[in-house]
Amino acid sequence: MKEDTLICAGCGAAIQTEDQSKKGYVPPSALQRDIIICQRCFRLKHYNEVQDVSLENKDFTDNLHELGRRKALVVKIVDVFDFEGSWIPGFQRYIGRNDVLLLVNKTDLLPRSVNKNKLKDWIQRTAKEHGLKAKEILFISAEKNYGIQAAASIMDELRNGKDVYITGATNVGKSTFINKLIQEFGGDEEQLITTSNFPGTTLDMIDLPLDDGSRLFDTPGIINNKQIAHYIPKKELKQITPSKEIKPRIFQLNEKQTLFIAGLARIDFTSGHPNSFVAYFANDLLIHRTKQDNADQLYADHAGELLSPPGKETLQDMPEFLKQSFTVKQGKTDIVISGLGWLSVIEPGAEIEVYAPKGVGVSLREAII
Ligand code: GDP
Repeated sequence: MKEDTLICAGCGAAIQTEDQSKKGYVPPSALQRDIIICQRCFRLKHYNEVQDVSLENKDFTDNLHELGRRKALVVKIVDVFDFEGSWIPGFQRYIGRNDVLLLVNKTDLLPRSVNKNKLKDWIQRTAKEHGLKAKEILFISAEKNYGIQAAASIMDELRNGKDVYITGATNVGKSTFINKLIQEFGGDEEQLITTSNFPGTTLDMIDLPLDDGSRLFDTPGIINNKQIAHYIPKKELKQITPSKEIKPRIFQLNEKQTLFIAGLARIDFTSGHPNSFVAYFANDLLIHRTKQDNADQLYADHAGELLSPPGKETLQDMPEFLKQSFTVKQGKTDIVISGLGWLSVIEPGAEIEVYAPKGVGVSLREAII
């Protein structure tokens, strides 16, 4: 980005007045304001409504490549509720030899009983499997202001005079975190950047000065297409995203029983001994139990009604269900649907079939709770 281009104070996009369908658009009259924010951020802020603009993942990754060429501290934020959707494919390649501080966000959503040490070990192992060796791992909740100060002081220690780059997949809470940093350290209200439920809010790089003349960069959120947020009508995203501590819901199932997660996913316990299943999804999201033999008919008759979201009008916007089969071989295992939640299978020896909108990541992992 050129030094003299105006940028949106909300998302960092270069300001332009020509094309309403492209990022950074403002009506010419709005150029008179002291603080300029693009129309998209304006609507998001005041009406909680997102305007589609064309985004190119290539722009995002070009910006990230820059990172490997500079000496900096890289802060990577992941969403504890959606680890799988939080990973940026090829991340290690982008960042070169720079140190990484891993911030695990949205920990307010985890049940209080969670063993944080065990979880940290798990995160460390998983990060390593993704080729990432973090200098430090820290639990935070940007929304609830938990761990922000600790994060700030570790950042200061690790950066050692260098610039800081804040990175993360879309929706992990990057903007919320940076806003909390600004508030915590006496920043200007007007400087606050746009946060929303909608993935892909931060469009270009945002640059904030630090005390010693170094800078803090907010890189654009990288899109990980496995996140369910990319496949769900925007209107309904709020309903499926948990906003409070998740209350686990326990189901004792026999083989040939099915759980519907509203109309968004279907999990069949096709064979195995009677087993316990613990569901970690937004508390208000309907989980409906039925017989596997009735499940097709139930979905055909009630998708968009009893089984909603998605609602009747938005059902056709959702990709069709894709079926995937899994065998739970050992220990307590989570079946994860990226961004929607997960189901823990307590005993090994279960055959499971999962139906989820095509494109959404479905995977097994060692149980994290
Ligand atoms: P970004 O795309 O990574 O910049 O993400 P945002 O900061 O815009 O946040 C995405 C969504 O996650 C918003 O709905 C936020 O309110 C929510 N969020 C951010 N941080 C937290 C957190 O610590 N806890 C919870 N429960 N939600 C959060």
